[in-house]
Amino acid sequence: MKSSVFDEPLEAAMRHARGHLASIDTAPVGARADAATLRRRLSGPLGAAGVPAAQVVDDLAAGVAGGLHLTNSGRFFPWVIGGALPAALAADWLTSAWDQNAHNYAVSPAAAIVEEIAGGWLKEILGLPASASFAFATGCQMAHVTGLAAARHGVLARAGWDVEKEGLYGAPPIHVVSSAHAHGTIDRALRMLGMGTKHWTRIPVDDRGQLPPAALEQALASRHGAPAIVVLNAGDVNSGAFDDFTALIPIASRHAAWVHVDGAFGLWAAASPNYRHLLAGAEAADSWTTDGHKWLNVPFDSGFAFVKHPQAHAGALGMRFSYITYDSDVRDQSDWNPEFSRRARGFATYAALRELGRDGVCAMIERGCEHARAIVRGIGKLPGAQVLWEPVINQGLVRFPDPRAGATPQEHDAHNDAVISRINAAGEAFFSGTMWRGQRAMRVSVSNWRTDARDVERTVAAVAAALRQEIQVHGADC
Ligand SMILES: *Cc1c(COP(=O)(O)O)cnc(C)c1O
Repeated sequence: MKSSVFDEPLEAAMRHARGHLASIDTAPVGARADAATLRRRLSGPLGAAGVPAAQVVDDLAAGVAGGLHLTNSGRFFPWVIGGALPAALAADWLTSAWDQNAHNYAVSPAAAIVEEIAGGWLKEILGLPASASFAFATGCQMAHVTGLAAARHGVLARAGWDVEKEGLYGAPPIHVVSSAHAHGTIDRALRMLGMGTKHWTRIPVDDRGQLPPAALEQALASRHGAPAIVVLNAGDVNSGAFDDFTALIPIASRHAAWVHVDGAFGLWAAASPNYRHLLAGAEAADSWTTDGHKWLNVPFDSGFAFVKHPQAHAGALGMRFSYITYDSDVRDQSDWNPEFSRRARGFATYAALRELGRDGVCAMIERGCEHARAIVRGIGKLPGAQVLWEPVINQGLVRFPDPRAGATPQEHDAHNDAVISRINAAGEAFFSGTMWRGQRAMRVSVSNWRTDARDVERTVAAVAAALRQEIQVHGADC
């Protein structure tokens, strides 16, 4: 093959990528370099003269060394972050090399067709209606904006209001109801869409982390027929809890409310016959969102929105331009997406789904749940640890209370966080702290395709070691 100006920088990138990925089982999982170190290595005035491309790549790789969390490790548990499946990663490289603008069919025929096919596969695996429209967005945040823009269009159209023309000036307020555990990205989507937070009712969850049906009924009844959107959780970000769709969606329907389901990772339970029951009734919602970059293990960034009412979806987001052609028998992404020019995200999703197949997706989801349970139970058996939440799916919570008699709540919280810091400093595994029912806890989130039984063993051993050390240093009287 004739050499090109791309060979050297791409070969350098390949070398660094392979080195990085080969270090995953041995390198510390958490980043080691601090902000000052990274700034010192990477900053400096931008020179007047350019630098040869391969050297830029080498310098960048050297500069960020130690400043990357090994998110693609099987022992990275702090947040719901997947790794990149091999085919998805490779397809994502090609996406950059092909450099397609996935605006619509005319601008990139292959990107449009691949996205159309991958969207169909996703609906099948996620148990959503085949007739639903969809969008491949940057993540669940923009998928929420997409679904809730369709919702805003839908509920206001029913109230005789054309929101695309009139805006929200003088519109009837839209009441939003969710549990208090709705994700922060819902809050931001509502703000971006001009719906604000004043008309948003956040109902405390019950012991199982679910929105109580009677409270939903009451919240919807008290708005006297005003337009309403109900946001339900398929996988709470701390506990993985699912709202009871079978009980809640009929209540919302009786009140003519639009139901939007946040299934950032939980919607993937649909791929497994063992966990699918958690989503029973969710197919009756009006819009759903999930992520590719979490449990499907597609590289960042990748989120999906699905809408049962294509007219409301296209009514909210569709856009057509005089200088672009539109073909009637293909899907133009610009009718469904919040972006104009955009990355061809369909390639990586297509590749991930083909690499795994339906059985592979199912096995990956079940593995994540089993390993989350094994880690939470394993930690729960250690002296000085408590289980706060056994995983329903792939999310669990544990806590490390201060072992000293008479320790205050603040001391318990501080001890919990000190143990987490110790685990992370040792480098065998990586976790984050969170607040749970007013106290500090540690999240266990398993969403990486690589996590295996050996990772579980190494992780529990690392937590045991950190607990022993912390108690030796600070737990004087036990
Ligand atoms: C991660 C997450 C989001 C936000 O998704 P992004 O892809 O990060 O934008 C929303 N809801 C839940 C439940 C999540 O876990």
